[in-house]
Amino acid sequence: MNIFHEILSGATKYPERLAIVEHDQDYTYCQLLDAASQVAQKISAMPISQRPIIVFGKNGFLSLATLLGVSLTGRAYIPVDAHTPFERTQLIKQAANPSLVIHTVELEEKFSQLFTSRISYTEYQENIDFDFSQIDSRQAVSGEDINYIIYTSGTTGLPKGVAVTHNNLLSFTKWMNKDFSIIENNHFLSQALYSFDLSIFSLYPSLTTGGTLISLSQEETTNFKKLFERLNSSTINTWVSTPSFIEICLLDPSFVEENHPDLQQFIFCGDELTHKTASKLLDKFPHAKVWNTYGPTEATGAITSIQVDKTILQDYKRLPIGTAKPGVEIQIIDDEIIIIGDSVAQGYFENSEKTAEVFFDYEGKKAYHTGDSGYFDENSVLNYNGRIDFQIKFNGFRIELQDIEAHLYEIAEIEKALVVPQENAAHKVTGLIAVIHSSLSFETKAEERAFNKKIKAQLSNTIMDYMMPTKFIYLDDFPLTPNGKIDRKALTKQVLGGKN
Ligand code: AMP
Repeated sequence: MNIFHEILSGATKYPERLAIVEHDQDYTYCQLLDAASQVAQKISAMPISQRPIIVFGKNGFLSLATLLGVSLTGRAYIPVDAHTPFERTQLIKQAANPSLVIHTVELEEKFSQLFTSRISYTEYQENIDFDFSQIDSRQAVSGEDINYIIYTSGTTGLPKGVAVTHNNLLSFTKWMNKDFSIIENNHFLSQALYSFDLSIFSLYPSLTTGGTLISLSQEETTNFKKLFERLNSSTINTWVSTPSFIEICLLDPSFVEENHPDLQQFIFCGDELTHKTASKLLDKFPHAKVWNTYGPTEATGAITSIQVDKTILQDYKRLPIGTAKPGVEIQIIDDEIIIIGDSVAQGYFENSEKTAEVFFDYEGKKAYHTGDSGYFDENSVLNYNGRIDFQIKFNGFRIELQDIEAHLYEIAEIEKALVVPQENAAHKVTGLIAVIHSSLSFETKAEERAFNKKIKAQLSNTIMDYMMPTKFIYLDDFPLTPNGKIDRKALTKQVLGGKN
């Protein structure tokens, strides 16, 4: 089976069915494939190599068609969200060295200069003579070809690109379609940015089964009023999001089963689903299926799942993350969750050093050190028990604390810096405290505030919005370990006052 042949053969059967619905516009499968084919033709007409292509834009029809168009030419796509700060985009571009950038939004001048080899696809012009036979899918990404590369936060401040193959994605999509009983013509919530791997939970199961993507823009997801209005007027059957996102939606009193009778299942991944959130959701949607799934980008979407029902809520205080999908084996080695098998990605794109740190061979199969602590309980169900390193999730976003620190150290007046996550009792990060030793000494609070502002302005060029520290603390002395390094544990305790 090939994902792109599957999408194409489905589309020829139901060309007029809606593939994607945006706030004020919707597009059929015929239009989606027409647009993808236009993009593929544009690429093929260029004298470029087979290297990956960056797709720079926002979620929605144009970007989706572009991702598919790139795949049709047999190249890997790299989704980069249009809100990514300039310097971070520069780092991604340097690391990826793409053959081309396709932008689906208008570009600011500095981005135009950065993307030397680029084409724009900011407007769809329907080809009224379009016919599916015009699509040449013989070159489409397949087998062990890299399908996409997603850049995530890296400990040195340089984003690292997870290279996911077509076989990885196929294994994930087959599992989703079967185990989550994805039926034809399902309506999927498509809210996660295409630059996060949570987005594949909606995109590929939907497109391979003739589903419809209910696509939320970032403007809608960040404005509660718009969000609640959109949700109330949408027909979603399958919900896909981080637990943090549903927590916002649960604030709307009208988000209940009576008003959303078609909403039959909720799939969560990317962060801990707390007992409180799952209970609240099941109270509001007593007949819906609620799934907790777990997995890192490096293992393609998710690799374990469990349906959370009243029995699970009764039996567990901290919710388990389930059992492995077919084709995947999980081992706990020194407390750490190790993922083995066909979901494990190829590695970090053209970064053999970082790849060798966490990817390895286990009895002839690909394996990955997750950095997650876990254990199997007496029911052979996997449980998550926090991180063994300094990676965190904040509002569902993956962040290496050292990534933020590396960029703090680039500020001349900062001599020492450490970022401490604040957590609540349910293990959720609620804030990021930057603890700083500066060469400046502040006479007044106003001076300190002015410096905080300067730090934020500088960081906003290099780190994503969601990585921005929420609080700054200045210290004269940092506790050190016997070998002279900053004692993270002691400092965390000092800053949080014994909490955590
Ligand atoms: P990402 O690569 O952004 O998907 O982040 C992967 C990390 O998110 C995992 O290694 C875990 O630390 C965390 N994570 C993902 N799913 C869950 C879950 N269901 N429960 C707890 N943590 C999760």
